[in-house]
Amino acid sequence: MYHSVSDGLHDPYRIAVSPDRLRRQLRWLRARGLRGVGVAELLRARAAGHGAGLVGLTFDDGYQDFLDEAVPLLLEHGCTATVFVLPGLLGGSNTWDPLGPRRPLLTEPAIRAAAGAGMEIGSHGLLHRDLTGADDDVLREETARSRALLTAVTGGPVAGFCYPYGTVDARAVRAVRDAGYAYACAIDPGPLTGPHALPRAHVGERDTGWRLTLKRRLHPLRRRAGTARAAADPVRGGAGAGR
Ligand SMILES: [Zn+2]
Repeated sequence: MYHSVSDGLHDPYRIAVSPDRLRRQLRWLRARGLRGVGVAELLRARAAGHGAGLVGLTFDDGYQDFLDEAVPLLLEHGCTATVFVLPGLLGGSNTWDPLGPRRPLLTEPAIRAAAGAGMEIGSHGLLHRDLTGADDDVLREETARSRALLTAVTGGPVAGFCYPYGTVDARAVRAVRDAGYAYACAIDPGPLTGPHALPRAHVGERDTGWRLTLKRRLHPLRRRAGTARAAADPVRGGAGAGR
């Protein structure tokens, strides 16, 4: 799970990785015989029994730097990724982060350019609202309406959704499924873990090779522990924090 690919800006939410660090991380993947792909491709390959060697790469929020910095590096390493954009804020900025700094979001033509470069475009909702406890109208807007708007932008079906802040409850999962998404990304494993609440590992600027090795080993354990904890305490399990 990535967000912004940029250098030098103050980063209170730890959402940025520098282009140089991303290059090293992609090189690390390739040196291990692994290839980064979008989540829809990963799930299709796994269902067909050839997902070994593939790693799902996701970029949340749809920053302009995805097209400017991440896409060239991904292509240079033979990889693709999913970018989760906000069709209610196209060409705007991350106004939901009170501390900033403001980072520009992809415009419509930029999203089409990313899709044209082979990247998967998914929805991150409409306005980056927390879906847990949201009323039915908000749930519908953030899931079904954002999917319809994004379909109009890309001209193709939109398979993936990503929960803002990674927070998820049973009603949000149902809204996402009812809106027609084939899968959705969360962050922490929990009682709702499944195709519509896929756990992800945060990857940031400090993730050098040995930390990636550790995260790769820990992710399956974290997933099992999260599911076990959820079974023991179904009320608390699941909700995690992220941007
Ligand atoms: Zn986000």
